[in-house]
Amino acid sequence: MPIYEYHCEECNADFEHLKASSDKKDEANCPACKSKKTTKKGVSNFSSTGNGGCGSGCGGCHGSCG
Ligand SMILES: [Zn+2]
Repeated sequence: MPIYEYHCEECNADFEHLKASSDKKDEANCPACKSKKTTKKGVSNFSSTGNGGCGSGCGGCHGSCG
């Protein structure tokens, strides 16, 4: 299940939104101000699928990526 990164146009907050595969909409409400004026920036790098993709700057896998 992908986690998308969003940016809120109202309060300039960046947040992540876990999108269910059944959810066809591309929008997410800002958790801070509840605004719908959000833009999707891309897919978060955080993934539970394991290996690959972790570079030298990896800080989310706690070394499991080698
Ligand atoms: Zn906001």
